[in-house]
Amino acid sequence: MRVLIIGAGASGMFAALAAARSGHEAVLFERQARVGRKLAATGNGRCNITNTGAAVNHYHGENPEFVRPALEALPVADTLAIFRGIGLLTREEYGGRVYPLSNSANSVTDTLRFALEAEGVRLVSGDRVRALTRGGDGFAVSTESGARVTGDAAIVACGGLAGEKLGGGKDGYELLKSLGHTRTALYPALAQITTAPEFPRALKGVKADCAMRLTRGRDLLAESSGEALFAETGVSGPAAFDLARTVSTSGEGLTLALDLLRDYSFGEALADLRARTEAAPELPAGGLGIGALPNRLARMLAKYAGIKQDAPAASLDARALKSLANAAKAFALPVRGTEGFATAQVTAGGIKTSEFDAATMRSRLVPGLYACGEVLDIDGDCGGYNLQWAWSSGHLAGRLL
Ligand SMILES: Cc1cc2nc3c(=O)[nH]c(=O)nc-3n(C[C@H](O)[C@H](O)[C@H](O)COP(=O)(O)OP(=O)(O)OC[C@H]3O[C@@H](n4cnc5c(N)ncnc54)[C@H](O)[C@@H]3O)c2cc1C
Repeated sequence: MRVLIIGAGASGMFAALAAARSGHEAVLFERQARVGRKLAATGNGRCNITNTGAAVNHYHGENPEFVRPALEALPVADTLAIFRGIGLLTREEYGGRVYPLSNSANSVTDTLRFALEAEGVRLVSGDRVRALTRGGDGFAVSTESGARVTGDAAIVACGGLAGEKLGGGKDGYELLKSLGHTRTALYPALAQITTAPEFPRALKGVKADCAMRLTRGRDLLAESSGEALFAETGVSGPAAFDLARTVSTSGEGLTLALDLLRDYSFGEALADLRARTEAAPELPAGGLGIGALPNRLARMLAKYAGIKQDAPAASLDARALKSLANAAKAFALPVRGTEGFATAQVTAGGIKTSEFDAATMRSRLVPGLYACGEVLDIDGDCGGYNLQWAWSSGHLAGRLL
């Protein structure tokens, strides 16, 4: 069979590889000049290729269970075996995150590109697919340059809206909608959370390990933990990314509270502050936390607690010390939203998974049509889960079961 695969990102390349290895003739369309442009930018250029803990509980969408058959058809170990087979060595790091041994995302795109060539996949790059139509027993793809290619089956692997500068866009949704499919609302996920800027701006570039709570009034909406990175307009880093989906879908009136001493209780933090003031009464208040937190953050917490940074520690009364301990345990920032699709790593929402068969990735509406990756209503947590979904769903779709 000849299969037309639209989009040479993570899922499309794995679909093309699986199709070719299953004995099909694969034609892979990519609108950008090079394959895997977004892939090359993943993981800050290191590509967090997968996570050894990839399982249904790390995925979201109307029906997260939809990912199960694909993850079973191509689990993490088998994914890494495919990569090993095409020459990519990997290494597992903290939290089950897996990266190429070279620490370079280019190793992933390059090994995939050579593997596709070696398997005889026909690549049509630098040409955007404008239309996908069904006629007779098969499909026809029409491109911007005027080319028309026909095939027996088609796989839409165009990704989602996230990362616009790297190829994110809405073509995949439109192509599938033109064939009768429908989609859910779309939201940016794994994005920077924007907050009132005063404190984050002054802390720009500072990283801190913390626990985060997203609340509205007394209601806890979501929580996460890990690294926070302060930015010009808010808070970024994996811990913030994991809450962005909830921020996107929860409306106004949210507060992001950072616990910057998550391994210590409020009482322990307060006792430590008291001990420090007794041991070093001349120390400026802004320096009290420098043994526990990055210097700039420790000084900023004094300001946040309403304490003069250069006031001697001995001058702080019990109330001031409590405010300082509280600032470290609940550094609360009013939320404005997220940075949006331009910098988001993944799209929450997409083409409805109820319109596809999870065991094959085949459309329930159009015979011979498949979809995989981010274009579908599935998004994963930060940590390699999104790429694993792309590999597994692409692999399953490409087998044309
Ligand atoms: C900055 C950034 C960092 C990330 N880091 C990680 C990470 O470390 N780990 C992780 O798991 N996930 C990461 N992600 C998420 C991950 O990259 C995506 O979830 C994944 O690439 C989705 O794969 P996909 O194949 O569905 O779509 P994509 O990889 O986006 O590929 C879709 C391809 O289709 C092409 N295309 C679209 N429309 C057309 C058309 N009309 N004609 C022809 N071609 C078309 C696009 O140009 C693109 O190349 C990151 C995302 C971003 C933006």
